[in-house]
Amino acid sequence: MRVVDHGRYIMGPEVGELEQRLASYCGVEHVVTCSSGTDALLLVLMAWEVGPGDAVFVPSFTFTSTAEVVALLGATPVFCDVKEDTFNLDPRSLKKELARIRAEGTLRPKAVIPVDLFGQPADYDAINEIAVDHGLHVLADAAQSFGARQNGQVVGSLAEATATSFFPAKPLGCYGDGGAVFTNDAELEGVMRSLRIHGKGLHKYDTVRVGLNARLDTMQAAVLLVKLDSFDEELSARQRVAALYSDLLGGLVITPEVDEGATSAWAQYTIRVRSGGGNHPGTSEAGDGSDRRDAIADALRAQGIPTAVYYPRPLHQQPAFADNDSVRLPISETLSSEVLSLPMGPYIGEGEIHRVSRALHQVADIV
Ligand SMILES: *Cc1c(COP(=O)(O)O)cnc(C)c1O
Repeated sequence: MRVVDHGRYIMGPEVGELEQRLASYCGVEHVVTCSSGTDALLLVLMAWEVGPGDAVFVPSFTFTSTAEVVALLGATPVFCDVKEDTFNLDPRSLKKELARIRAEGTLRPKAVIPVDLFGQPADYDAINEIAVDHGLHVLADAAQSFGARQNGQVVGSLAEATATSFFPAKPLGCYGDGGAVFTNDAELEGVMRSLRIHGKGLHKYDTVRVGLNARLDTMQAAVLLVKLDSFDEELSARQRVAALYSDLLGGLVITPEVDEGATSAWAQYTIRVRSGGGNHPGTSEAGDGSDRRDAIADALRAQGIPTAVYYPRPLHQQPAFADNDSVRLPISETLSSEVLSLPMGPYIGEGEIHRVSRALHQVADIV
């Protein structure tokens, strides 16, 4: 109602207030809010002048945005495999793909976008080190991990630049689309502030670069300011939900692992169900081996328990990225046929978690 009263729906005072609150929450100097998590990724890559001829390394097992923004700018997404235990970018695969791109000599290695899948930070120690050795920018895709930590540092401060999303289903969600970029680089911040408003200069009608309309609505900023007040409590509640799931499901399915020294924001609680046919990493094809997982999901749905598959097909096997047809990333391919995300949120009660667990024990025996 305050926003309706002052009527400054675009770039109203709540936007700046939110940016300051987010910066102090993460312990970074600059936060630029924007219209979505996808635009947050895009703003950073545009500011770094990523374009044709550039290779940007991304995990294949992620949401499409991570690679989409690279391709939109005319650069080439180079797909890497992930680690089986954390679902996150495998630094060994990154090194291997870097070596391949260097040997081929047609693309310039420019940046890497690690993804904090399901809420857990990627292996930034290892990835940042590789990036320094190879002169790569590091853009963290933290769309799912806002609020998580690694070695005492909060997500937002783990990479040169970090993009997050406030899509309603993310750990900190608004009532529509929204996103933000976190960085300590003042120059990057300045360019993004310009890009987000049509590449403006000092004056609104100076156009100094080709930009976007990528602002966060004042209304969404106001919603986020209120939701930030209870965010830490919600993170703790998600942590309790995850811990109870893991207690109850430990022997039955592969439960998610969190690295030592890290916490997850638990955007998703994702289990793995082994495929019936005994497929192993390296032998599975896309779509193969998911029958048992899908049967379990169907049986849970019949009991009124919703689940979701993030993601049923790795990006290197998507039609939009068809020039990666010959690429084989065995872990990403296996995970896409085995993962199943269970109901997760801060307001799920213990009784409900027990009900999901009982149902899963029943159906896992049957299928
Ligand atoms: C949700 C998500 C995005 C995109 O965020 P939007 O706000 O929906 O644009 C990017 N990357 C990952 C990993 C995501 O989960």
